[in-house]
Amino acid sequence: MTDHLHQKIAANAVNIDQEGCFPEQEFKWMAAEGLLSITNPDALLDFNKSKTATLLQLLKKTGSANLSVGRIYEGHINALLLIALYGNPIQKKTWFKEAEKEQKLFGVWNTQAENGVRIHDLGDGYYRLEGSKTFCSGSGWINRPLVTGELVSPDKRGWQMCIIPTEKVKPILTDSSFWQPLGMRASASFKMDFTGIEIQEKDLLGEPDSYYREPFFSGGSVRFAAVQLGGATAIFAEAQRFLRMMNRLDDPFQRARMAEMAYLIESGNLWLNEAGKKADQWISENTSPEKIIAHAGLLRTFTEEICTRVMHLAGQCVGARGLMRTDAFERIYRDLTLYLKQPGPDATLTQIGGYVLNQEKTDDLWN
Ligand SMILES: Cc1cc2nc3c(=O)[nH]c(=O)nc-3n(C[C@H](O)[C@H](O)[C@H](O)COP(=O)(O)OP(=O)(O)OC[C@H]3O[C@@H](n4cnc5c(N)ncnc54)[C@H](O)[C@@H]3O)c2cc1C
Repeated sequence: MTDHLHQKIAANAVNIDQEGCFPEQEFKWMAAEGLLSITNPDALLDFNKSKTATLLQLLKKTGSANLSVGRIYEGHINALLLIALYGNPIQKKTWFKEAEKEQKLFGVWNTQAENGVRIHDLGDGYYRLEGSKTFCSGSGWINRPLVTGELVSPDKRGWQMCIIPTEKVKPILTDSSFWQPLGMRASASFKMDFTGIEIQEKDLLGEPDSYYREPFFSGGSVRFAAVQLGGATAIFAEAQRFLRMMNRLDDPFQRARMAEMAYLIESGNLWLNEAGKKADQWISENTSPEKIIAHAGLLRTFTEEICTRVMHLAGQCVGARGLMRTDAFERIYRDLTLYLKQPGPDATLTQIGGYVLNQEKTDDLWN
């Protein structure tokens, strides 16, 4: 369905691999294909239609074309899912329509360092933000950033989500000097300072602490794993292209590495499809959040291993000559190295281990 689009995105990746760049054209192309609203009610991948496996494959293909585009697109989908889960009917109508008709781009900015965000209740339905977020993918190009922060109010406390209507508030201060990364340059993941931004009650999404509600928070790791697997798929393709170009087709070591990468990538694919199906089934059956999170943790952890191993094998295949900046391989390798760094890998393993140890037996853990 989207092969031609992903080819175009892949072809342009070299031109936007710079700090300060953002895939503007790419998101226009994606909007034209309806991909910004593909999860809206009644659309192809409507969250209520239990199409998670197909959504994961779409994220994988996007990441394979350009990991930065995949990262930003994943944030957009995450924001729409949070709206579907926690928005009131008016909010859902407004924001889904904005994604579809106005091609507004959404993102989720939760990560922060010192000086994190606080949302002060001013009374009469008005709120003022204070503090900053780091790693804000898409930065000023995001029209509807979903920002989290500590709610400071006489009535309510907790970690509150809000969606900022950027054109209706004063400009959000952007610190692009924060963003000097190894890879993922085009994701424009700057530091943003929200101090003084004023919003209204209608901009608050969900109750305090909804953001961390399980299994949706940790279970969401399957989406970034899908994008990561896309990166490994692209590295595999580049290594195969390189060996064919060099006519190094008969060497047994190269063949063995190709074989290992082929089964690793295919295992990742099978995992995506199975995890997508299971997640949909388990959510509909109200399965325990611990089980859903542990299974998502398996996918996420194994995907990281697949990607790391594929990077190692593909690097051995192409050698130094294949790691020149003139080749896509070098960029994808850098991008994936950085994008593999996601929150809480150790905590994920301990959660899985704890879940397994708490079961009576291990022979039927995931059915
Ligand atoms: C390209 C890119 C784009 C991003 N875009 C966004 C975005 O749009 N929005 C957003 O909210 N975030 C974004 N992030 C941030 C991302 O979600 C993670 O928060 C971030 O990558 C984790 O950073 P870290 O590896 O430095 O984390 P850390 O949490 O510091 O983890 C590093 C290591 O320390 C371990 N560790 C963690 N906590 C502890 C502890 N208390 N004690 C000891 N060890 C610990 C971890 O298990 C890990 O092994 C982005 C990240 C990247 C790379």
